[in-house]
Amino acid sequence: MNKLNIVFIAPPAAGKGTFSGMLKEKYGFTHISAGDLLRNVSPSSSVYEEVQEVMKSGGLVREEIIITLLKEALSKDLGFGFILDGFPRNLDQAFAFGDLLKEVNLSVDKAIYLDVDVDTALKRVLGRLTCPNCKRDYNSLTGYNTPKDEGLCDDCHVSLDKRSDDNEESFRKRYETYMTKTQPVIKFFEDLNLLTRIDANKDANVTFKEIENVLGLGEKNDNN
Ligand code: AMP
Repeated sequence: MNKLNIVFIAPPAAGKGTFSGMLKEKYGFTHISAGDLLRNVSPSSSVYEEVQEVMKSGGLVREEIIITLLKEALSKDLGFGFILDGFPRNLDQAFAFGDLLKEVNLSVDKAIYLDVDVDTALKRVLGRLTCPNCKRDYNSLTGYNTPKDEGLCDDCHVSLDKRSDDNEESFRKRYETYMTKTQPVIKFFEDLNLLTRIDANKDANVTFKEIENVLGLGEKNDNN
């Protein structure tokens, strides 16, 4: 099967991370999350304080910083292809992404827009928990992946973490940033005939099947 390079565009908590993880596990994609690249910036880095501050407020980190991290990530072995989640987040980044792809000799095959209502997204954000050890995602409010023992990872039995920006105030700011800055990116990919919209308000397994179908991976799904 040919390699596939995918971009996810979505408001916060639409499921970018969840579906990227599912695709990675099932097909061997390389998941590149812009948010994770930034969260993993070393405390010894000269931009560490700046990155922490901007992320906490829900704003966008400077383009040079994210482009440098992304170039490094895209230059590694990408397995079945890459899934890029959280980038590009505005039109400037979309154009810079085009230049970066040329530099590393890659292209995008599909852009998937995960469309979710603001109230559903808020509920997901407020209940979101992650295992610091295996990185598995849980949710204490939505009924999807509820930890068996409250606050503990089912597999590692360690306390689950809550992201510092997963509060209502930061969510509202991130959602507003998305509406004003990221929405134009949808049109950008639409104009390139690469965009498919998927309703991400449904159960995660239903949405995942739709994503597989859009990517032409449905048959593999049915055979498993
Ligand atoms: P996420 O994990 O995608 O929800 O991103 C968490 C935070 O990281 C965002 O609220 C931004 O502060 C920052 N961030 C993630 N992706 C980008 C990006 N492409 N450009 C600038 N900042 C970003």
